[in-house]
Amino acid sequence: MKDALIIFDTTLRDGEQSPGASMTRDEKLRIARQLERMRVDVIEAGFAAASNGDFEAVRTIAEAIKESTVCSLARANENDIRRSGEAIRPAARGRIHTFIATSPIHMEKKLRMTPDQVVEQAVKAIGWAREYTDDVEFSAEDAGRSDIDFLVRIFDAVIKAGAKTINVPDTVGYNVPEQYAATIRTLIERVPNSDKVIWSVHCHNDLGLAVSNSLAAVMAGARQVECTINGLGERAGNASLEEIVMAVRTRADVFPVESRIDTTQIVPASRLVSQITGYPVQPNKAIVGANAFAHESGIHQDGVLKHRETYEIMRAEDVGWGANKLVLGKHSGRNAFRARLLELGIEIGSEEQLNLAFARFKELADKKHEIFDQDLHALASDEAITPEFEHYRLVSTRFHSETGETPLAEITLTAGGRETHSKSSGSGPVDAAFKAIESVAASGTELLLYSVNAITTGTDAQGEVTVRLARDGRIVNGQGSDTDIIVASAKAYLNALNKLHAGSEKLNPQV
Ligand SMILES: [Zn+2]
Repeated sequence: MKDALIIFDTTLRDGEQSPGASMTRDEKLRIARQLERMRVDVIEAGFAAASNGDFEAVRTIAEAIKESTVCSLARANENDIRRSGEAIRPAARGRIHTFIATSPIHMEKKLRMTPDQVVEQAVKAIGWAREYTDDVEFSAEDAGRSDIDFLVRIFDAVIKAGAKTINVPDTVGYNVPEQYAATIRTLIERVPNSDKVIWSVHCHNDLGLAVSNSLAAVMAGARQVECTINGLGERAGNASLEEIVMAVRTRADVFPVESRIDTTQIVPASRLVSQITGYPVQPNKAIVGANAFAHESGIHQDGVLKHRETYEIMRAEDVGWGANKLVLGKHSGRNAFRARLLELGIEIGSEEQLNLAFARFKELADKKHEIFDQDLHALASDEAITPEFEHYRLVSTRFHSETGETPLAEITLTAGGRETHSKSSGSGPVDAAFKAIESVAASGTELLLYSVNAITTGTDAQGEVTVRLARDGRIVNGQGSDTDIIVASAKAYLNALNKLHAGSEKLNPQV
């Protein structure tokens, strides 16, 4: 019998801290449902004390998710922990994950606390958390640069206080595999009652070693890995869930553990997270990149056709490639449409919104005939259907582009309910469209990124555009999709402006 490897997904917390990747409550719920379908053990749903929106998101997920443990992050102070405790109260299984920094540089410069005070605060934090749940996780922030004797001391103290999971994060991505594994091994040897708790790792990818470090730690005794879909996360990101899960599964001869993950849900999860956050997946990304299972070279192809195992160590269908079934078409009715949305975890609030969504679906089906799950997710993200922030709305567009002529865009939009019309030229039709919008919005933003991806294959696929805007240090990603990429671009730009308009600052804890 192998040990269980607990998969702790933090896409909704650490992943959301990627620039511009903030998600709405409904988007988080859709991702949480997909994580549950994938059989993730623990879903870190957010940081409840960050803002009212974060609290509501954690609580909504705690209410909806039945199979996975739902966790909220909390700094080691009473207010954070009580907010987390309230947010996870409806969960079938709820966890509070509290943390405090333990490296000399963080204790001295950031916390301005002595090591004794840090231990005392950590123990208090576990006590508050246990008023809400027995499932308490403790993280020593910046453990990767902390003194090992101090880690032994603080972990001993929090285990006595009742922590059940001990996380040893490499917060700044500074560790290398052998050394990190040695740290984990030493802690397990030296911390009293280390066999009574689960040892966990959380690695950042600043040196491209997050997955390697996590797997080395598993060989040294770690039994929980914190990770994210597509490796999303602060800076260079986190360990990627799909790589951890598939490494352990493919090399079952090496690893003494197994996860519960339904791997066929990996590609759908990757697509969903990419679509919602506006972070495309690079084509050569392991497991979920478009090329991960493509064989270009003739020699390889011949080998693969004759006998797949010559060059393939995994099967594409095992991670969910090809699961992208045709789901609905032009003649699908309202009930089939609604049923499929429910299966995907897309909840549409009112009957009026459902009617609007169905009308959009019919319009889309007329243009592209075959509708896939990703099209439905894109449709659900459409502002008109989930109008969380809706200062600007696109009404109609007209573009003119011809070889040798200056491209022109005419745009009609509503701003705060009032319809306005504008016109601009540009170096291309997208540039002209953005300039026309700016002549109304005068947003004072800087365009940091513009990217177009096809949602599904074929020239009739919807184009999905991501626009990243910055203003006064705040960064947002806007998304828009349409079979016409210029229209998709205008929608994405307005979506980003709406997010900036909606405001909301929040705390970004670094674990
Ligand atoms: Zn982190």
